[in-house]
Amino acid sequence: MTELMQTIRQQITDLLSRGEYGARDISQNIGIREKEVYPHLPHIARSLASQKKKLFVEAPVCLSCSYEFETRNRYTRPGRCPRCKSERIREPRYRIV
Ligand SMILES: [Zn+2]
Repeated sequence: MTELMQTIRQQITDLLSRGEYGARDISQNIGIREKEVYPHLPHIARSLASQKKKLFVEAPVCLSCSYEFETRNRYTRPGRCPRCKSERIREPRYRIV
């Protein structure tokens, strides 16, 4: 892992220790692109496990029919709702607990 990646992961970890944020908030805070946030999350979750903490994911929700997505092992924003096919999805939000 490069030093830059380590720094980014540390910044995301610090941010999520202070509050609950979605990938877009994280990207704006850290200064990386939204899609670059997602690959870091499973790594952060793994390193938190050794500190007896965890990365809590608040499930994405369909804004049209309130369908709640499964979040197990899944951090990215779903493209569309499997129930009503809407693309109006509230993005998942993360925090460290
Ligand atoms: Zn829906």
